Amino acid sequence: MSDFNELMDSLSRTMRGEEARKAVEKPLPRPFRFKWHPIIGCRMKTGPVCNDCIARKESWEEFQNSTSGFWAAKPNEVTVHELQLTEPIRYREPMDIEVAPLSDLFQPDVSDEVRHKIFTVIKNAPQHRFFIQTKNPAFMKHYFKTRVAVEWPLPNVWVGTSVEDQASFNARVPNLLGTNAHNHFLVFEPLLGPINLEMIQLDTFDRLWPFKQMVQAYESMDDEGQRHWAPLHGEPLMRTPAIKWIYVGGMRGGNARPPHPDWVQRIVSQAAENLVPVWFAGFGEYSQLEKPDLENDETLVYVNKRGEYRGRGVGSITNLLAQTLDGETSAILSRKTSPARRMLLNGKHYLEKPPMPVKFSNTQIKDSVEALALRLKA
Ligand code: SF4
Repeated sequence: MSDFNELMDSLSRTMRGEEARKAVEKPLPRPFRFKWHPIIGCRMKTGPVCNDCIARKESWEEFQNSTSGFWAAKPNEVTVHELQLTEPIRYREPMDIEVAPLSDLFQPDVSDEVRHKIFTVIKNAPQHRFFIQTKNPAFMKHYFKTRVAVEWPLPNVWVGTSVEDQASFNARVPNLLGTNAHNHFLVFEPLLGPINLEMIQLDTFDRLWPFKQMVQAYESMDDEGQRHWAPLHGEPLMRTPAIKWIYVGGMRGGNARPPHPDWVQRIVSQAAENLVPVWFAGFGEYSQLEKPDLENDETLVYVNKRGEYRGRGVGSITNLLAQTLDGETSAILSRKTSPARRMLLNGKHYLEKPPMPVKFSNTQIKDSVEALALRLKA
């Protein structure tokens, strides 16, 4: 019951209406207090989305701006930062920590030895929550089943996968849910298409079998002969306790494609219906405006529900107002905006996190640090 109350408390912190409007020019909270970089760089290619990888871009910028030699690595190579390895243990105050945000811990170029060191540190910093996301949940599942070298699962670890469209959702989510862990989360970033959380297209039947049992879903066939999983008795799949947090965001960077607001709203609404906290990180480089400046804002883009988009270009207002893609009225977004405004979805901010669990005493943390020091020396 207390979990439920805490969750409701977290959900009620969602800002709405006037409150959200006042906050648009203020800096907003971040989902993680600390970004931990025991490794940086990534050599994986999981699809076209890797071509515009913001982690690679940011690690390259860090590398170029670095004067300390700390970032002495190339973004498409994996570099281990031994000095950063024990960093979380120095902080006694509980924090949410993003693990290796400029890399992917479950890419083949990271050795099990490095992963073991990272999980040893995590085990010895129980005051923090560690959020690990991967685009390779199949390997993550295998790693925790057969190769992990610490006592597993650890209650302070959150495992997640990032998906960008229905195909990647269908392929990765079953592996995420099949991963032995206490806490699972989903990252919809960069969101590049509509995603139906309640129905997974069944193109890899065998791999999905354990997932099928987990969510008590059943198989069905649609009119075009496509096999689907649908929830039993109309219950949404997300009602399973498996997913405890959802993070949604648009693409960032020079090539950013705008997500349609309806795609985001659909995910956010499904999360809310199922009492799953949701964090909306924004439309990437774009924002919704209450009254777009159709005459002067050259940064406006039109996006339809299939993700086709085009810029405002030059033209009369009459042409502009008539602008539709394939006859469908498009959403209008603008690049001329502030970071807080980008995080508004239909006038609201969604900044929900799962509530922090128990607090640890200083003695517990001290014992843990000493145990780790001994282990690393051995
Ligand atoms: S960090 Fe993620 S998005 Fe970037 S290249 Fe690696 S797998 Fe692709």
